[in-house]
Amino acid sequence: MKIDDWLLEILACPACKAPLRAEDETEELVCTGCGLIYPVRDDIPVLLVDEARKP
Ligand SMILES: [Zn+2]
Repeated sequence: MKIDDWLLEILACPACKAPLRAEDETEELVCTGCGLIYPVRDDIPVLLVDEARKP
């Protein structure tokens, strides 16, 4: 997965505004606040609560 560090720094969880952390093994973004897991499709993070998985 190729998510640039600068991009990760400006991304925030739409649910709780906490920073996100890249999960390389599953190619997902995990919220460091509420723990919701967001998919990455074609290197584009999908930051929609409706698309997120619960931890
Ligand atoms: Zn969150």
